[in-house]
Amino acid sequence: MSIIEFSNKELWPELLPGWVWLCGAGPGDPGLLTLHALNGLKQADVVVYDALVDKKILEWSPQAKLIYAGKRGGKPSIKQRDISLQLIELARNRKKVVRLKGGDPFVFGRGGEEAQTLVQSQIPLRIIPGISAGIGGLAYAGIPVTHRDVNQSVTFVTGHDQNGETPSTINWEAISNGSQVIVIYMGMRHIKTICSSLINCGRDPTEPVAIVTKATLPNQFVLETTLQHCVEDVAASDIKPPAIICIGKSVLMRQVLDWQSQLDGEKPRSTNPLNIKFPPESA
Ligand code: SAH
Repeated sequence: MSIIEFSNKELWPELLPGWVWLCGAGPGDPGLLTLHALNGLKQADVVVYDALVDKKILEWSPQAKLIYAGKRGGKPSIKQRDISLQLIELARNRKKVVRLKGGDPFVFGRGGEEAQTLVQSQIPLRIIPGISAGIGGLAYAGIPVTHRDVNQSVTFVTGHDQNGETPSTINWEAISNGSQVIVIYMGMRHIKTICSSLINCGRDPTEPVAIVTKATLPNQFVLETTLQHCVEDVAASDIKPPAIICIGKSVLMRQVLDWQSQLDGEKPRSTNPLNIKFPPESA
């Protein structure tokens, strides 16, 4: 299949033998892959891919050997070190390697560690960013990650560390006081601790929360709730990871920007959920 001609080598670099391209695959929808990543997939001998990479994306690399290197929370999985060693070995064997990771490789994806190991082993590499679930996934749910009337900052948080615990280094008080919008990756396992930590640190219990599961995919699901009702609503809904959690008033924008439901013929629930005067006074 030819989507775009990649023959112009000035625009579209060649994936050379012995190189690794560390690529983001985006949050799910294959159309959110970058053209550089697609160019890599078309040239690769080997694609080493993660659990959250959609299988349709791998179909763009029919000539390549596909190696699964998935790591999903709580399940037995390949060790990070083994993945890095495998990439080094493939590159030393003069393979053209694409390492494909969900979302953006440098956002809670351990891409930095893999890239560092490659550099230490003198393997030449290219880094191709991807659309991160915490931005693109929210956009598919109709939630702008920043919105001028809501937030001038956003905090991206991981809900668990490498031991599966809520990271002890997270300063919930600082986040609660200082972060207008909070976007949490891998937060489902510890959602109770996260919500109660934020409320205990002074966050408004009625603050809107959205949980987007399988964002950008055909079975995307969005649960809208509040900080105080989040845990019971999650329990009642039977939703499963992968899920991205957004805490903040920008969630309300979904009432007007839920474009996917509008594609299905639904009317917006509101046209001005934040009661903004038009034109904005600061315009
Ligand atoms: N590097 C990835 C994040 C990897 S951590 C990125 O930039 O998006 C894995 C976590 O990302 C999941 O536990 C979930 O919190 C989030 N995630 C990734 N894809 C998702 C999707 N399609 N829908 C919802 N959450 C997703």
